[in-house]
Amino acid sequence: MPIDILTITKHDRNIFQGKYIYPVVSRRAGGLSLGINLNTNSACNWQCIYCEVPNLVRGKPEPINLQELENELDYWLDQIINQSFLSQYTKSQTEFKDIAFSGNGEPTASKQFKDVVGILIKKISEYRLDQKITIRLITNGSYMSNIVIQESLSLIRNINREIWFKIDSVNKADIRTVNQVNLSLVTIKKNLEAALNNSPTIIQTCFFKLNEKLPSSESLGEYINFLKPYENKIKGIHLYSLARLSEQPSKNKLRRLTKSELEVIASKIKVLKIPVYIFS
Ligand code: SF4
Repeated sequence: MPIDILTITKHDRNIFQGKYIYPVVSRRAGGLSLGINLNTNSACNWQCIYCEVPNLVRGKPEPINLQELENELDYWLDQIINQSFLSQYTKSQTEFKDIAFSGNGEPTASKQFKDVVGILIKKISEYRLDQKITIRLITNGSYMSNIVIQESLSLIRNINREIWFKIDSVNKADIRTVNQVNLSLVTIKKNLEAALNNSPTIIQTCFFKLNEKLPSSESLGEYINFLKPYENKIKGIHLYSLARLSEQPSKNKLRRLTKSELEVIASKIKVLKIPVYIFS
């Protein structure tokens, strides 16, 4: 294994060999995160123009080798819990924070999502992690109201869990440009409500300059009005900008927002009774 120390900027999922499971130090998780990638073919049902997944294609995940995934998860949990992985590969005092569904595409698109959740529960119990870490589902939310996804998440109701639900905009035209999907407000509502009724939910929103233009105040107003009815149920909003270069071909020019630009946007969103966290 290489001797690189994992940091919040050293995010290469290929530092360690493995198909499904990879360790990263995550700013937003606040420590070491064990990622689960169910989209090994880099297929997603969305195609966000800022997406950092190289060679992203539209589609569904390929079939998962569940035994291989379980073996990898076992290997990494053993490294972190029983061996010296944290002290060897991360800065001192880095804590193991979460196991996150965060792959090269939308994880809930996998037909085997529920099977993987079953494996996760088994391993969390074996390593006695139930009260120590959080299970995070990082999702674009598009399958959230699907009954199998709801059942899968209900399986982990006794474990700390969070859904990080992507909403970059609720303006139809902006969604078409940014996420490159056709999505109605009714659908976003249905999926968001399914998430909120199931698990503590954080909204994750990526803002950036598009062809040198900031998100319009009209679009921001729509976003605020949309979230208003849910302000007592949403656990938080994560505002962030482009951490790395987009891997998607586009004729649009994307530019990262500075911390102060994000703060100006956050100050507007703070009319909502939802904690807003900036990651710049
Ligand atoms: S939803 Fe996530 S993985 Fe899919 S295209 Fe958007 S940023 Fe990439």
